[in-house]
Amino acid sequence: EAAELTVSDLVVDYPIGRRRHRRAVDGVSLSVPAGRAVGLVGESGSGKSSVAKAVLGMAPLSAGRITYGTTVLNDLRGPARPQDIQVVFQDPYSSLDPTKTIGYTLQEPLRAHCARTGRSLSAAARDELVRAMLAKVGLPAGTAERYPAQFSGGQRQRISIARALILQPRLLICDEAVSALDLSIQAQILNLLLELHLELGLSLLFITHDLSVVNHVAEDLVVMFRGRVMESGSAELVYRQPQHPYTRQLVMSAPMQDLEAQRARRERREALALPPARQAPLGEACPFAHRCPFAVDRCRSERPLLRSAPLGGQVACHLAGELPPWSDEHTQPRE
Ligand code: SF4
Ligand code: MG
Repeated sequence: EAAELTVSDLVVDYPIGRRRHRRAVDGVSLSVPAGRAVGLVGESGSGKSSVAKAVLGMAPLSAGRITYGTTVLNDLRGPARPQDIQVVFQDPYSSLDPTKTIGYTLQEPLRAHCARTGRSLSAAARDELVRAMLAKVGLPAGTAERYPAQFSGGQRQRISIARALILQPRLLICDEAVSALDLSIQAQILNLLLELHLELGLSLLFITHDLSVVNHVAEDLVVMFRGRVMESGSAELVYRQPQHPYTRQLVMSAPMQDLEAQRARRERREALALPPARQAPLGEACPFAHRCPFAVDRCRSERPLLRSAPLGGQVACHLAGELPPWSDEHTQPRE
């Protein structure tokens, strides 16, 4: 059964040397309700992959609580973890063993599952499951006998998705799952994920730096910057009416089809002439203060907390509701 994933006040620190650490996630809360598609967006280094790793039991938790339904995931490792949660990573080139056939690779989770649960599944039954899963992701049956090198990047990502789905998870985490692919292949994989989401009721946590990508898949969006959530809400709202200055920049820098809008976006961005990101110590300040065109003194001395925003959703900004209204010219139409 599908269940809700909740992440509450998560803090992830990575040790640097013996005494110091780098805080990758600084008090993040989010949830993926059963059957929902949630996009987690932010530039590289914003901590979004660390949130995914924490959910997958692959990152050190300094604080916080992660639950899936009634199961607390915090300290669960390896086979103790629910099979309901699976992941697809970015790189379809390195994530498949080049010496194993695709069939062998896809059967691996099934064999491990049988070993763990003491159940038995005949070779014929495993073959059948593999063939069905390959068909579901749009690959021919002969795929099982071949090796990763015989496939393109897009095909390999389909294979990675098939491997993630073979144990019939209820929640799929996609960490930059289409970022290494050509635009047309990206669209195919996104459509496939959307189909699986709709057809199987699969919950999705879709992680990307590219707002234009997630915009097609996600029903809700969570926007992260330097380890914190800046804004969250329905995708329609966050994309159409971004209320946080950082989200506005993200939306402005997302690729747009409309040339007029593109020109307006470029002019506006040049006018803002923002300095590049700097990894200075945060302390009690808004993490976006050094890049924010609206920053006031308070932004450098007081941490803005995530709170209900005037138009809906949640925003972590002292000036939420007081910023100039957002102009729709910066937003491409949603499909
Ligand atoms: Fe900008 Fe201040 Fe809002 Fe941070 S709190 S986003 S610096 S206005
Ligand atoms: Mg990442």
